[in-house]
Amino acid sequence: MIGHHGPAFAFWLSYLEHRGGLWEQSGDTVLAILPGHLSAQHDLPETALITDDPDIAREDGVLFLGSGNPEIDKAAETIIDAGDVGALTLPHRTKQTSTEDLLAKIRDQVPVDHGRIDATGSILRSHRSLLRLGALVTHTISADERFTEVAECVLDVPSRVAWAKDAADRLLSAIGTAEAGGGPEVRASRLTPAVAAAHRELDTAAARRGQELSIEADTERSAEITRATEYYTAALAAIDKRRTGADEQRRALLDARTQATIGERDRRLAEISEKYRHQHVLRPYRLHLIDVPVWRLATDVRRGERRWPMVFDYLPSLGTVAPTRCPTCDAHSPLVATKTHLGCGTCVPATTPPLRLAPVAEKPRQERAARNVPPTGAGAAPVPAHKRQPRDDTPGTDRMRHGAAPVLPTAVRPVAARRPFLPGKPEERKVVDFWNLVGTGETRKLSRLIAPESPLAALTQLYGAAGPLHGIGVPAGHPPHSFTYANYDRPVVGQRGGTAGELRTHHDQYPYLLLWSPDKLLDEILPYSAPWHLGRAQRILEPPTHVPAPSTDLDQVAQLLLTRVTTRHGLTFAARALAAWWRLPDPDILLARFSPRVVAATVDRAVRYWSGASQAGYPDAAAAFTVDQPDIRKATPMLQKQLQLSSTRNW
Ligand SMILES: [Zn+2]
Repeated sequence: MIGHHGPAFAFWLSYLEHRGGLWEQSGDTVLAILPGHLSAQHDLPETALITDDPDIAREDGVLFLGSGNPEIDKAAETIIDAGDVGALTLPHRTKQTSTEDLLAKIRDQVPVDHGRIDATGSILRSHRSLLRLGALVTHTISADERFTEVAECVLDVPSRVAWAKDAADRLLSAIGTAEAGGGPEVRASRLTPAVAAAHRELDTAAARRGQELSIEADTERSAEITRATEYYTAALAAIDKRRTGADEQRRALLDARTQATIGERDRRLAEISEKYRHQHVLRPYRLHLIDVPVWRLATDVRRGERRWPMVFDYLPSLGTVAPTRCPTCDAHSPLVATKTHLGCGTCVPATTPPLRLAPVAEKPRQERAARNVPPTGAGAAPVPAHKRQPRDDTPGTDRMRHGAAPVLPTAVRPVAARRPFLPGKPEERKVVDFWNLVGTGETRKLSRLIAPESPLAALTQLYGAAGPLHGIGVPAGHPPHSFTYANYDRPVVGQRGGTAGELRTHHDQYPYLLLWSPDKLLDEILPYSAPWHLGRAQRILEPPTHVPAPSTDLDQVAQLLLTRVTTRHGLTFAARALAAWWRLPDPDILLARFSPRVVAATVDRAVRYWSGASQAGYPDAAAAFTVDQPDIRKATPMLQKQLQLSSTRNW
C-alpha cells in the first residue's frame, strides 16, 4: 500500500517499483533498495531509509524524499521522456441483471424533469472509455519557494466529465486487479477533446491548490511588507525630523532625499509583491486509455406522445450510470423534457423552481478550505485599575513584534468527529470578565473561567493573574487599560472556538487569541489574533521568549520546561509543555527510569511535534536539554501512552 504517503513520495515509490527496485515499510520510514543503474542515476545509495516526513528525515541516516526534492523531479523527467502512455480493455466480470432492474437504476439515478425513461431494447454488453491523465504540477509560491506534486484526473471520454475522486479511485483499483485484454481502438477525434478536458480539470485543481498555498505565503508576504513599510516610515520620519530647523538649502536637499526614499519604498514594495506571485506549470507524464465494461440500454425519454431517443451506460463496477450531456446544448446538466424538445437545466429557462433537485453526479466539492470570517463587531472595554502592580523584575524585556497579524482565511482541517464549541454572546461576557479579573489581579475568580489542566491554567499557576499578560508578551509593570474582542464564527487553530482582539497598555498594543475548551472554558491564549495554527504562526511571529520568575515553586522538570522551552520556542509552547507535564497521571513511572532532563526533553518534543511546529525532531530536543537522543526515543512511547497526544490534543 502506498496509500498514506504523500503524493510525491508515493509517486517516487511506484517509480522505484517500475524501474526494478524494491521497497518495504520499516517503522515510520521506508527501506528502499535501488538497482545499480537507478542508484547511479539519482546519486542515491543502493539501500537507503527514506521518508517524506521532514521530522523523521532529521534523524541520522534517513533521506528526505518529499515534495520539492530534485530526485523526484528527475524521476518524473525520466517518465515524461519515456512517456507512460498505454491503453487497455477490462473484461466483463459481473453477472448481467435484467432489463427491468437496469431501467429502474437508470430512472433512479437520471431524473428527467417532466419526462419518463422507457427501454426500447435489451441490455447490450459493451465498453466505455476512460482517460487517465497524470501530471506533475510545479507550484511557484515565491521567488524562494517552488515545489512539485503529482495530480491525476480520471475522465469519462464520451461525456468529457471527470469522475469524482472516490469513483476514480474505485475504477483505478479495478484496473489494478484485472487481467487486461488488448487496448481499445483510439479514435483521435474523440480523444483530443477528452485530453483537453482532463488537462483543464488538472489546471483548475492546480489553481485552486495554488490559492490555498498562497494563503500561507500571504502571511509571509504581509509580514515582509510590514517590515519594509516600517523601515521606510522610520527613514522618512528621520529625514523629516532633520528638516525642522534646517536652512533653506539643506531643506531642499532633504526634500530631494524624501522623494528618493519614497521612490525606493515603492520599488521595494512592488518587488515584494512580484516575489510572491503564485504560478503553476503542468507537465503530463501519464496518459492511459482504459475501456471499462458497461451495460448499455437504448431508451426513449417520453413526455406524453413525444419521444426522444437516449442511450445510457451503466458501470457495474461503480453501480453508477455514466454522465450524460444534453442532446440540445451539450451541457452536463439534469435533463428536462419540454413540450417541443429534450433539453436540460442549462438551456431550458426555468419558469418555475424545479420540483426536486436532481442528484446528478457532480464534480467533487474541493472547497475544503473553509473561510474563516474575521471577527466583526468588535467590542471594546476599559480595564479597571490594578489593585496591585506586578513586580517589574524584567529589565530589557523582549517584546514580541506585533501588528503583523492580518486576519486571513486559513485552511481548516477536515471536520473532526466532535464538533468544536463556537463562542457566542455569553462567551463575550466571559472574555470581558476575564480581562477585568486579569486587570484587577483576582486569580481565584479568574481560575473559574479557565479549563483545568490547560496551557492557560499552567500560565496562571506560574504567574497568577498576570499569566495571560505574559502569555501575549506584555512586560511586567505595564498594566492593561483597554481591550477589544470578537468571536470567530468558524473554528480556528485546529478546530477550536476562538475569541480574538487586542489588549492595550499605555505603551503598546498586544493582539491575542483566546481559545475555548469544549466545556466553554478558556484553555489557551496565543500572542496573535489571526486564526493561525500555532506551528504556522511560529514561523512568522517572534513569540514572547522572556521568562519572568514564576510566583510558585516548580519541580525540576517544570523548571527545565519553563526556562529552556520558553527561550527557544516561546512561552506559548512552554505553557503547552507544562500543561502536558502537569496532567500526567503517573509522572513517577517516567522519573523512575529517566532523568528530569530526558523527561523534559521528551515532553517538549512530543508537544511541539503534535503542535505542527518546525524543528520538532529528536535532535533539536536532545540538544536543547543536553541529553542523548536514544533516551528520548525510549521515553516517548511511555509518555504517549499516558498523554495520548494528537494533532487536536496538543498538550
Ligand atoms: Zn441543454
